[in-house]
Amino acid sequence: MSDLRDLYQETILDHGKNPRNFGKLDDANHQAQGHNPLCGDRLTVFVKTEGGRISEVTFEGNGCAISMASASLMGETLKGMPVDEANEVFQNFHDLVTAETNGVPEEDLGKLVVFSGVREFPVRVKCATLAWHTLRAALEDHKVESPVSTEGAKDE
Ligand code: ZN
Repeated sequence: MSDLRDLYQETILDHGKNPRNFGKLDDANHQAQGHNPLCGDRLTVFVKTEGGRISEVTFEGNGCAISMASASLMGETLKGMPVDEANEVFQNFHDLVTAETNGVPEEDLGKLVVFSGVREFPVRVKCATLAWHTLRAALEDHKVESPVSTEGAKDE
């Protein structure tokens, strides 16, 4: 079990240091900013959707390894996915890190399973979910004047 834990930690550190899909997406048709004041994580998520499908996801910003790794792996997971399915993945990921089991086997979460350890550190849950809350705000096309804040989000 501890080998697995090490592997998860390595993956998070790797994505945290070298985030994939990092940078502005010039032809994005959705974008939103997110801020986690508890930790200081800030990011902007850019999404391009075509025909109900997410064709591209990128992000910019800075924050702790968990917030960056989460945004990085979110992009890898959602690229090419129908928007409806992405919402389901959001819910499953949220349940994974808050340990509200909803019956979704961890192996169905793919690489996102590396965040399962976050549930033991409640203060880190907002780091892990920031990119996802921001993505959802982007897809809902909220005219975001001020950044989405994880404060008030129901992560507890
Ligand atoms: Zn953080």
